[in-house]
Amino acid sequence: MTIDKQVIEILCRQAVDMRSKSYAPYSDFLVGCALLTEDGKVYSGCNIENSAFGPSMCAERTAIFKAVSEGHKEFAAIAIAGGKKDGELQYCAPCGVCRQVMREFCKPSFKIYLAKSAEDYKEFTLEELLPESFGPDNLK
Ligand code: ZN
Repeated sequence: MTIDKQVIEILCRQAVDMRSKSYAPYSDFLVGCALLTEDGKVYSGCNIENSAFGPSMCAERTAIFKAVSEGHKEFAAIAIAGGKKDGELQYCAPCGVCRQVMREFCKPSFKIYLAKSAEDYKEFTLEELLPESFGPDNLK
């Protein structure tokens, strides 16, 4: 899957737009994301909080689990957009749990875009955000 500037902008824009679907009445921290499969399909996600806190779910895992449940297990990139409801967007990095879930399905070169807008983003690889990681290969 080729990831050119236009694809990155589409993913970042969708990540920002998905914040409108976020259910975050406790933190007011809205997160949206857009996950690109290796065969070019995009799955979106948002964070979904819960009054018991433990059952809350991050945007990234929402998108990854949606995609896996639809038969996709190979991913090329994800764009993530997050920030307080009435504040400016941050370069919102995935939490440790989401990084580990990415490690299950994604190559070390998997691209992670932390988006403030379609044009303003930081680019990382999974390997950069989760160095010296434990993954499926360790159990072979
Ligand atoms: Zn997370």
